[in-house]
Amino acid sequence: MAKLSVKDLDVKGKKVFMRVDFNVPLDSELHITDDTRIRAALPTITYVLEQGGIPILASHLGRPKGTYDGTLSLKPVAERLVKLLDRKVVFADDCVGDEVKKIADNLKPGDILLLENTRFHPEEKANDPEFVKELASLADLYVNDAFGTAHRAHASVVGVAEAFENPACGLLMEQEITYLENVLTDPKRPLVAIIGGAKVSTKIGVIKNLLQNVDRLIIGGGMCYTFYRAKGYEIGTSLCEDDYISAARELLDDTKIYLPVDVVVAPEPKAGAATQTVDADKMPAGHAGVDIGERSQRDMGAEIERAQTIVWNGPLGIFEIDEFSRGTQAIAQAVVRATEKGAVSIVGGGDTIAALRTFRMVDKVSHASTGGGASLEFLEGKELPGIKILKDK
Ligand code: AMP
Repeated sequence: MAKLSVKDLDVKGKKVFMRVDFNVPLDSELHITDDTRIRAALPTITYVLEQGGIPILASHLGRPKGTYDGTLSLKPVAERLVKLLDRKVVFADDCVGDEVKKIADNLKPGDILLLENTRFHPEEKANDPEFVKELASLADLYVNDAFGTAHRAHASVVGVAEAFENPACGLLMEQEITYLENVLTDPKRPLVAIIGGAKVSTKIGVIKNLLQNVDRLIIGGGMCYTFYRAKGYEIGTSLCEDDYISAARELLDDTKIYLPVDVVVAPEPKAGAATQTVDADKMPAGHAGVDIGERSQRDMGAEIERAQTIVWNGPLGIFEIDEFSRGTQAIAQAVVRATEKGAVSIVGGGDTIAALRTFRMVDKVSHASTGGGASLEFLEGKELPGIKILKDK
């Protein structure tokens, strides 16, 4: 790992501004429905506390319109943190201002401060220098553990990091970078990528970049149909992005690409619809492709089980509907089997992780990435501003 880590810093007695990703889902009564992201930040928080440092936690939550919004307050997160850490957490009802500065100045080793949602201020997204100065004035050191927002050049991600001499990554960030970097630089081979999900448009950059490095690239999900159209197949009412047919056509000659040979179709992509499995080039008009067929599952499964490194982003079908989730489940099983045999498996994207969770397999892959958009940009080969700004070792 080329970046400075929290473990390289002397945090004893120091206030550590920690950018974390507490962007958790809340229900209508403001209860946290999934605290994975909070749990993922615990190792770094605990490490700083154990070393005698004082964590000052900053995060965004949702998309407030640059002003206070009680439904997007981090207060429920503070309460959850108290339970998870089994200790007191000071919650500040803003992230800047005199009151917050006073609270921060009075913190002692053993204390933890959670700041209110940084996006209640439009200056967060604008990376405003004055706002940056105020946030930076709260602490002595900077640590970024929020991989999920590393692709955003916001104040708490970039500006505040820049204000410190030795901005470092947290343990979660370090793990994310190590796994993803390994895919692009030094993977054990064969390296197999599985790219699914709804749209070609959001993943074309990743597909192109990965093709330079993978031994096999499996394509599935809604994006297949744009590729089938590029081949001249009938695709009925399946998803298709007309603007990307020519981009898909350019990739068809690449022998590393595997497209499903059979698909599950339904008159409507709805629960309870009558399904049938057909060859990919024999889709009936008026039907939509909703999943990959069994032959494809077997072909893909065999490729995956031969792999030493697997990177997966995007479900293979409309997995939210039980009848259309078989393909995604079969691929998840193959990834887990490969992992059990010693392969390194890296899974990213909110929907893919959600699918793994439904199948109770999320703990059976080597690394489940917490950042959807960020992991895609990383795999596209882009330099993420929140990582770039961290100090090299
Ligand atoms: P993404 O965010 O691009 O990874 O896309 C995830 C979404 O793709 C999920 O909500 C899936 O239901 C959807 N998806 C997967 N396969 C298909 C398909 N064949 N037709 C329509 N949507 C699909």
